[in-house]
Amino acid sequence: MQYSNFHTHTTYSDGKNSVRENIEAAIASSMSALGFSDHSYTDFDSRYCIKKDDLPRYIEEIRKLGREYADRIEIYLGYELDGFAKLENRELYDYIIGDVHYVRTNTGLRDVDMSRDEFIDVTNTCFGGDSIAFAKEYYSVYAECIPQMRPDILGHIDLVTKFGLVDEDDRRYRSYAIEALETALAVCPVIEMNSGAISRGYRKTPYPAPFLLKEIKERGGKIILSSDSHRSTDLTCAFDDCLEILRACGIGSVVAFKGGKLEEFGISARSVSSI
Ligand SMILES: [Zn+2]
Ligand SMILES: [Zn+2]
Repeated sequence: MQYSNFHTHTTYSDGKNSVRENIEAAIASSMSALGFSDHSYTDFDSRYCIKKDDLPRYIEEIRKLGREYADRIEIYLGYELDGFAKLENRELYDYIIGDVHYVRTNTGLRDVDMSRDEFIDVTNTCFGGDSIAFAKEYYSVYAECIPQMRPDILGHIDLVTKFGLVDEDDRRYRSYAIEALETALAVCPVIEMNSGAISRGYRKTPYPAPFLLKEIKERGGKIILSSDSHRSTDLTCAFDDCLEILRACGIGSVVAFKGGKLEEFGISARSVSSI
């Protein structure tokens, strides 16, 4: 099985490996393409994102190594844009992943995915202990930001479930999530199946939840496999399991970049050989 991945973090943001180390690992595991997507610079939170001054070097290094390795693997330059970050020179990138990592609260912007303790603190101090209210705010920010960002790929849409502290069976929760999904798909039909929280031990299953996958299918959305990797050993983490889940939801294909364009690949257990 030849995989590709377009959501990769490096030492330019909070990843553990360099661009070159990731490319070497991708070639060693016979991947057909690798796309980089370090975290966009956010002036209000520098803990995990790229440094503003490093951005030209990030772009230059990925382009240079893309040329160097062109006969062995396709390399793409992406950027994981946060809803509260600014994007300059969009034309420099092959694609933009649109994501939301913060909510607005009466104590300012608070993050959704930094740690379990922080999630509990935000739930208690800003949402009266109600994690569904937290999720409602998250999806409302998502639905507001995505149409402004107009990304090429929708990232981990249900990130707010990362720590397992939101009841995903709650009817209110599902309606907020589906409403945000609908708004987002209207501006970007490509959405990640993201295994990043599995490789880092937070979850056993990828985003999005099966009920959202079914909504995506019904609305004609397209899935792209994504490991949201922070280590070069995790570039295709749980991709076999992701395909199983997609098939179980009745989804018969995924998209991936090939030759600079998004192409659709069938994923029936028999025909699949390259994604
Ligand atoms: Zn993210
Ligand atoms: Zn990411």
